[in-house]
Amino acid sequence: MKNIFGITYNDLEAYFLSNNDKSFRATQLYDFLYKKRVFDLTKMNNIPNTTKEKLNTDFDFSFIKIIKKQEDTDVKKYLFELTDGNRIESVLMYHNYGISLCVSSQVGCNMGCKFCESGRLKKVRNLETYEIIEQLLLIEADLNIRITHIVVMGIGEPFDNYDNVMNFIRIVTSNKGIDLGSRHITVSTCGVIPGIIKFMHDFDQVNLAISLHAPNDTIRNKIMPISKAYPLNKLMKTIKEYIKLTNRRVTFEYIMLDDINDSLECAKELAKLLKGMNCYVNLIPYNETENIQFKRSKKVQILTFYDILKKNGIAVTIRREFGGNVDAACGQLRAKSN
Ligand code: SF4
Repeated sequence: MKNIFGITYNDLEAYFLSNNDKSFRATQLYDFLYKKRVFDLTKMNNIPNTTKEKLNTDFDFSFIKIIKKQEDTDVKKYLFELTDGNRIESVLMYHNYGISLCVSSQVGCNMGCKFCESGRLKKVRNLETYEIIEQLLLIEADLNIRITHIVVMGIGEPFDNYDNVMNFIRIVTSNKGIDLGSRHITVSTCGVIPGIIKFMHDFDQVNLAISLHAPNDTIRNKIMPISKAYPLNKLMKTIKEYIKLTNRRVTFEYIMLDDINDSLECAKELAKLLKGMNCYVNLIPYNETENIQFKRSKKVQILTFYDILKKNGIAVTIRREFGGNVDAACGQLRAKSN
């Protein structure tokens, strides 16, 4: 039985029509679920009982469970248990421009980035669409807030779970329901080229972020095994096509690892690689974890790296740090949740 929170508006409409019901039932149901946040069928007063009974036999209305919440200034980390006992995490961040939620897309991850705590647990399975939607619904209900931005940047590689993540985007952007603007959503990939190509045609208004983390294949191969399958020249060619087609600015994430990718030569090489592109670079001070040997770049090194990019005309920021005290920072999810 499918969970109702994984059903797109179009599929719901098709469902009602195929059951000789009215297509506007989809609008009514979406309105209860996503606008009024009424999840109990018995409380949906304008839907006829026959329709409710059918919905009750055809769909599962259950939720995943919040089992732990950790809080720090401007950040909250949630640990969820799925119905099969697997666990995932989401991180909520308060910014000056709104409230963003970083959702997970898989249980574990197969991409094997060497600096990533989340990827130490191999992929167990993809998340279903409803399991991604429910991260948002439960956190909004818990805090009585509305999330304004979503980043698909938690545990997992979104393009390794393409269909479920894209249905998640269809549901959160539907104007019949949550109605979040496409431009308020960012999908982050470690560089899965076929996913980027598909994505640029399917969702040309949703933001794309690339976990780059190195200016050449030699360093990238050492820290991101994916680059052996999708080398940098092919990745950059695809990103240029993406920018040409969508006219959107791409974000490059660059984790600063001491003595690995933070030299002045790396900064110059990166500037050369990105010259003239509609992009910006987000330098991320690395969050050290017990299990991984990499160290955070020294502050002066990060600032010098930043300056070199800036002087070479590359738009760049140093990411404000979130959640280090609750292990909610980038690459720390699932580090200590069990
Ligand atoms: S950084 Fe992202 S893609 Fe790489 S292992 Fe971690 S979760 Fe997977």
